[in-house]
Amino acid sequence: MKTMHYLRSLQAPLHYLAAVFATTLVLATVISPRASAQEQVVLLQNARIIVGDGTLFESASVLVANGFIEAVGSRSDMNLPQEFAVLDLSGKTIMPTMIDAHVHLGYEAYSRWGSENYDRENLVDHLQRYAYYGFSAVFSAGSDPDMLAFSVQQEIEEGRVQAARLLFAAGMAPPGQGPNDQFLEHALAVAEKTGMNILYGIASEQDAELAVKEVAERGLDFIKIWVDDRGGSQQKLEPDLYREIIRQAGSFNLQVFVHQQSAEDMSDLLDAGTDGFLHGRLGRNLDSALAERVHAAGAFIVPNLGLGELRRQAIGDDEFLRESLPVSVANRLSSQAGARFESVPLNMQRETEMAESFKALIDAEVDILLGTDSGAVPDHFFGYTGHRELEIFVRLGMEPMQALISATSLPAGRLGLLNTGVIGPGYRADLLVLDENPLNDIRNTRSISRVILGGVEVDRGALAEKFQRE
Ligand SMILES: [Zn+2]
Repeated sequence: MKTMHYLRSLQAPLHYLAAVFATTLVLATVISPRASAQEQVVLLQNARIIVGDGTLFESASVLVANGFIEAVGSRSDMNLPQEFAVLDLSGKTIMPTMIDAHVHLGYEAYSRWGSENYDRENLVDHLQRYAYYGFSAVFSAGSDPDMLAFSVQQEIEEGRVQAARLLFAAGMAPPGQGPNDQFLEHALAVAEKTGMNILYGIASEQDAELAVKEVAERGLDFIKIWVDDRGGSQQKLEPDLYREIIRQAGSFNLQVFVHQQSAEDMSDLLDAGTDGFLHGRLGRNLDSALAERVHAAGAFIVPNLGLGELRRQAIGDDEFLRESLPVSVANRLSSQAGARFESVPLNMQRETEMAESFKALIDAEVDILLGTDSGAVPDHFFGYTGHRELEIFVRLGMEPMQALISATSLPAGRLGLLNTGVIGPGYRADLLVLDENPLNDIRNTRSISRVILGGVEVDRGALAEKFQRE
């Protein structure tokens, strides 16, 4: 199983460490390439610690050694080595880095969008943008050429590139179909130009059996299926076929996540054994009875609420986004740019229905995961949209602590990332240090002081400089 990769120690090779530690960061000076193993220990002390599973320490310390967390809690209770460095984080909050459970990497190029942009450099760039915004992993949902994605995954796992970790799925739909009509054309073009597999056409139960077997043999862990007729322009994947896909996937221990057209499709997909829904389809049809069914079946939901909303907003005005954009792109998406970005008032009836539906999910204790669909359409940008999605969760009634769980331990567990998403002994030191407390105001996830991936601090300044280049 591929997930085993994530349980392995992720010691970065020395040449990579040397490049990362060119900056004068405290962690960097502590964990220098020439330091002995004992010196590679740092105590982050006096911080508020949001563990990621609902636990909170108002003032505590985290002991990090060789990229992993050794201990969390009171310094006086810790078994400290003779030599270690101290980083005082008084007034700051440490939480686990986040995970975006629904993205589409590779197609966005910030001034244009499409198959022509998909290559290794762009894939890495998008994962670095996630790292910049405090994310340590993403799940890319059925739009990546498999061998290229595997090779970038390996580069990151081995520490040759510092970026968010990449998980990805094979896509399955009726032949020649899958993503929305515009996206589909580009996904097919990427498959064509790379000669690699992205989408598997399923027209019969035998196709399902063969496709799942092939995906398993190629080493993937996930399958994404589309159950959507795209307003009549595509054929909807038939229940007999998705049942067979899910049944076959189960025999290889693969998870099947679904893009469903509406809440009405969810019931049969639950019976078929789907592991998770990549869209919430919140509204009157997703009521407490259905929410309880989702919970009982053990499936998760990625509500995916920002996609429609943010595209109507003048997001180019937002300083937090401007940090990672060329000025020309930010201006194009700013309020100066014209009518398309006039602020649209919330439809209050829709808002109430969504909030009721969201509350039904929360009350039924359904696993709600942060996911954004970023990259699926132009100008729905990586990392930034994740912070905005959490704001929507809280606006619709979720407690900030629960929203942070949705972004950390829950997606980690669901995606098989068993050593991240929690600040606890034995976990990777994937840490997001914030200036302000996100439990007071979820928008404080924006107040990023440091991002640390596997014990190595991300050079956010250098990344911002690169991202802002025209
Ligand atoms: Zn998607």
